[in-house]
Amino acid sequence: MTTVPDYVFTPPTPFGVPVKGSNKLFPVRRIYCVGRNYAAHIREMGGDERALPFFFQKPADAIVLNGASIPYPPETQDYQYEIELVLAIGTGGADIAVANAAKHVFGVAVGIDLTRRDLQLKARDTGRPWESGKSFDNSAPISAIHPLKGDIPKSGRIALSVNGTEKQRGDLNEMIWQSDEIVAHLSKLFALVPGDLIYTGTPSGVGKLAPGDQVEGTIENLDTLAISIR
Ligand code: MN
Repeated sequence: MTTVPDYVFTPPTPFGVPVKGSNKLFPVRRIYCVGRNYAAHIREMGGDERALPFFFQKPADAIVLNGASIPYPPETQDYQYEIELVLAIGTGGADIAVANAAKHVFGVAVGIDLTRRDLQLKARDTGRPWESGKSFDNSAPISAIHPLKGDIPKSGRIALSVNGTEKQRGDLNEMIWQSDEIVAHLSKLFALVPGDLIYTGTPSGVGKLAPGDQVEGTIENLDTLAISIR
């Protein structure tokens, strides 16, 4: 007989992301993000493109599903979009070899790393943690997860538009760390577990959002991710 824990209140249920072609949901455990993974974006942020990419996290309940309307966040005058390919981990592991990385990836999706840029830069410039700029409520929109068929996509158009005007455009082949390398690097720092998501960095063209904006993120062969800001 199993003992049912007697919590003082009902614990939150995991966030589930739709899976393309299935009625099942992908339960989110952790959200990892890669910083500085496209040279043109490093240059527009005033960084040194020779510096290696790095990781940060968002909370799992920052997930926003496709089609949602989200409120303009508090305490910022510089709320920005970053279109990114997302990897969804289906098989856990630590110290994963680059050659084996794709076996650990359940699928891929379109994501937006929403950022309070003013708070992020203030944290960066004062040597403080990034959470207030990166890891706030509703900061991780994601499309349905497309189950991987073979290799992780290594090229393909990635773009974002605001109110029908294209703002970001790049190609997955511009990533400094390709997806397999990201899985390998991250798994040296943290044991990966099924349910983990990895936002893989953004190309150049990041910019501000305002209430009323309609945002569309696209990656070749994946669902379009649409959100609106209210
Ligand atoms: Mn990003």
